[in-house]
Amino acid sequence: MERIGAVLIDIDGVLTVSWEPLPGAVEAMEALRAAEVPLALVTNTTSRTRAAIARRLADSGFPVGPDDILTAPAVTAAHLRERHPGARCLLINTGDVRGDLSGVPLVEEEDGEGAVPDVVVLGGAGAAFTYAALNRAFHLVQQGAVLVAMHRNLYWRTADGLDLDSGAFLLGLEHAARTEAVVTGKPSGAFFAAALAHLGADPARMLMVGDDIETDVLAAQHHGITGVLVRTGKYRPETHAAAEGAPDHVVDSFADVPALLGLPGS
Ligand SMILES: [Mg+2]
Repeated sequence: MERIGAVLIDIDGVLTVSWEPLPGAVEAMEALRAAEVPLALVTNTTSRTRAAIARRLADSGFPVGPDDILTAPAVTAAHLRERHPGARCLLINTGDVRGDLSGVPLVEEEDGEGAVPDVVVLGGAGAAFTYAALNRAFHLVQQGAVLVAMHRNLYWRTADGLDLDSGAFLLGLEHAARTEAVVTGKPSGAFFAAALAHLGADPARMLMVGDDIETDVLAAQHHGITGVLVRTGKYRPETHAAAEGAPDHVVDSFADVPALLGLPGS
């Protein structure tokens, strides 16, 4: 294929499953590094900060640091700082990503009645998605708070199967409150714009590698980026066949990406 300027790589299901490296993924990333291909890891993960993700991946042997990673929480924070500067935010999220939300005033439970949030931010589902938390979000949105969601993922894959994610709750909240959330993670245009700006790359010379045909691959293609679907992680032949469009490339795993790029030794 034509010389590619930069590569965007989804993490979960492409490089790792339940944070364990997939076969050949570390070696493939080492090959990209050796060829000095600019890259960014792009993830809707809402349970860990960029620094924590980088540490976990580096411990598994991936040659990456925090600056190589773009997460939905980090892009959400950039969106809030730009579009709602100083606005008080109620965050409903499972996992601690406050390290990536600098400059975003978060309203805590103990702040009391005086600190009514202007923005409700939904992160990833888990124990924090209680009836009380979701009902508070519903009340605030009815009273005019802006609804922002880090993503619309309906489920994610764990080593034990699929677990229900925040997109399922978001649909109900939007329907009940008769509103539509602004989504900041993949597959939103805001997320891909942030990734392009992060790498300073032209979409026509950029590749996106993902295991989610809609959220990663077709969304990237919609923004002019070349899409590569891997047959690992959440990949299912039925989902592939039923998709609205076709990926530019389909490979068995991330281990095949250096050869797809025509890198030496692959
Ligand atoms: Mg994935």
